[in-house]
Amino acid sequence: MILDIVKYGHPALRTKGRRVENVAEIHGLVGDMLETMRSVKGVGLAAHQVGRPLMLCVIDVTGASDRPSAMWIDGEEVDLIDHMPLVLINPEIETAGSEESGEEGCLSFPSIYSKILRPAYVRIKAIDLEGQEFSFLAAGLLGRAVLHEYDHLQGELFIDHMTPKQRARCADKLDALLADGMGVK
Ligand code: ZN
Repeated sequence: MILDIVKYGHPALRTKGRRVENVAEIHGLVGDMLETMRSVKGVGLAAHQVGRPLMLCVIDVTGASDRPSAMWIDGEEVDLIDHMPLVLINPEIETAGSEESGEEGCLSFPSIYSKILRPAYVRIKAIDLEGQEFSFLAAGLLGRAVLHEYDHLQGELFIDHMTPKQRARCADKLDALLADGMGVK
């Protein structure tokens, strides 16, 4: 089922996600989130964005062939195709490397895009749909997507990383989203 994606102003987006205690209970939600992400050709979707503030997000960078990604498991670089879509439950992250600038948008902020600084590498440890722990290292668009989604799980948003100048440039669009109410699209 395709779910409604909540927009900026919805309180779920500013709520810290609850840990998922029972993985079996979220199988349906994850299926719906994957379907919703695909329906809008998104690279990532956090549970917060469908109004469910949980430590849960889905990511699929395979559609973004113009922006490279890299993924390593146990020190070996792996083929991304074999690992997408990613379902990250209760993820923990550690960042490394210098910050890199890259374009970002967000399904909860239609038509707002900005260059955002993010660390070049991120190591992720999470639980999968079978309840098994797994970990990997990510860079490029995948690393950026993980960091963007992880922010959502903390109740943080990509606009929080904008410089005052960048924020001023999209102030009108942000106001318009807020004025649209706390509404779902
Ligand atoms: Zn987002």
